Amino acid sequence: MKQYQLMPLPYAAEALEPVISRATIGFHHGKHLAAYVSNLNALLPGTAWEGLTLEETVCQATGGVLNNAGQVLNHELYFGQFAPPRADNMPAGTLAEALVRDFGSVEAFMAEFRQQGLTLFGSGWVWLSADSTGKLVITQEAAAANPIQRGLHPLLTFDVWEHAYYLDYQNRRADHLAALWQIVDWEAVGRRMAGGRQ
Ligand code: MN
Repeated sequence: MKQYQLMPLPYAAEALEPVISRATIGFHHGKHLAAYVSNLNALLPGTAWEGLTLEETVCQATGGVLNNAGQVLNHELYFGQFAPPRADNMPAGTLAEALVRDFGSVEAFMAEFRQQGLTLFGSGWVWLSADSTGKLVITQEAAAANPIQRGLHPLLTFDVWEHAYYLDYQNRRADHLAALWQIVDWEAVGRRMAGGRQ
């Protein structure tokens, strides 16, 4: 039976500093995500969801399998969308045009996304997704939920579980969210908008 593997990071563990420290990456990827992968592999055998893709599992499973599969998918999208910091890091091309079309401006999109991340109560994720018509939407998802569960195609996500930022920012979630714009790999987000998962 298929065993899920811990995704390799597409950058060095210190590459996102100072926005996300090497220590946070070490715990978040090397401990938290690794535990979700391990839990999923332990829980799946013998269930009705063996043999499904990760996305299908997130849409169909329940209980512990759903929680761990959701966290694996969410974190693969999260860690796959970053690149070393750039102060002038902004989207371009088709992606920028779609953000202007649906939010008024790139800056308005960023302000709304950050606000949704800031006001999400408890542990969860804020997402930018495309709906079935290609319109871009922001949603808050609690715990391990993913927008594919409501028929959306996820493009970008910020993890607002405290384990994502507490070592570096303690309670300052707003500062963490503001800093993340420096490390978003907009080309990766654009590839997702064009239809790919990564
Ligand atoms: Mn996380």
